Amino acid sequence: MQIVVCIKQVPDTAEVKIDRKTNTLIREGVPSIINPFDLHAVEEALLLRERCGGAVTALSMGPPQVEAALREALSLGVDQAVLLSDRAFAGADTLATSYTLAAGIRKIGAFDLILCGKQAIDGDTAQVGPEIAEWLDVPHLTYVSGIDEMILAEPARITVSRLVEGGYEQVRSSLPSLLTVVRELNEPRLPSFRASLRARTQAITVWGAADLDVDPERLGIDGSPTGVSRVFVPEYDRQGQIFAGGPEDQARALVDLLRSTRLI
Ligand SMILES: Cc1cc2nc3c(=O)[nH]c(=O)nc-3n(C[C@H](O)[C@H](O)[C@H](O)COP(=O)(O)OP(=O)(O)OC[C@H]3O[C@@H](n4cnc5c(N)ncnc54)[C@H](O)[C@@H]3O)c2cc1C
Repeated sequence: MQIVVCIKQVPDTAEVKIDRKTNTLIREGVPSIINPFDLHAVEEALLLRERCGGAVTALSMGPPQVEAALREALSLGVDQAVLLSDRAFAGADTLATSYTLAAGIRKIGAFDLILCGKQAIDGDTAQVGPEIAEWLDVPHLTYVSGIDEMILAEPARITVSRLVEGGYEQVRSSLPSLLTVVRELNEPRLPSFRASLRARTQAITVWGAADLDVDPERLGIDGSPTGVSRVFVPEYDRQGQIFAGGPEDQARALVDLLRSTRLI
């Protein structure tokens, strides 16, 4: 079974800093991690490989420093890592990002499954996974919290549980397909010391625009129809309401307030 896992390197901070002039994320000086949801995608790919055999490829698009994220994926046990990196990819919105990643997946070769995180914790759009599926013309299943059945014999198919409001939904799809995954799916493993050492020297394949079968006008900022007019972190009023009286009066006042605002 051939599995591609898309991993994004994101800033290791809950509070993403924004360049007010360009409205893009400031990445300099901020430590980076693999997008947490993508670690669950890597884990599931490794579990599926252990069960069904085959190979797992980790794929990322970004600047050269994204190699660190791919090395971490190698230390977790993926078979190969591919980085799509080129100045022409810079400033990509989700459409251009997914277009480029889809081209990378086509170049990697035949696949049974593509795994993505539910969303990136910086961009937060949750668009890239489904968009990759559209470019590759394969079905996509989002918010996957469990893989219930995987049949590789023809007709190849997969049955998954999806996290939906108030419960789960079981859905079946043909393979190949693309899944976006949530935290409930599994518990990501930690790399062993030996694997981390080995990953330091493992080769990472790097492809630029010239290596891919792409229309240059669909790449990077030129291929990005999204216009960001303003990006901001909401300001919270932490003052809140202070209730008078003893604990019981305060509790009663709080319950009255929650009822009156229909929060309970
Ligand atoms: C006009 C505009 C300009 C932008 N310019 C920049 C810029 O200059 N620099 C910049 O860094 N960002 C830029 N962005 C943000 C960029 O669009 C997003 O970082 C990117 O498209 C992914 O979207 P997302 O973070 O919402 O991912 P989501 O759709 O929330 O991610 C879902 C999943 O898709 C996969 N995925 C997402 N991105 C990648 C990736 N790069 N590689 C591998 N897998 C991935 C992962 O599995 C992830 O869990 C720009 C956005 C806009 C709208």
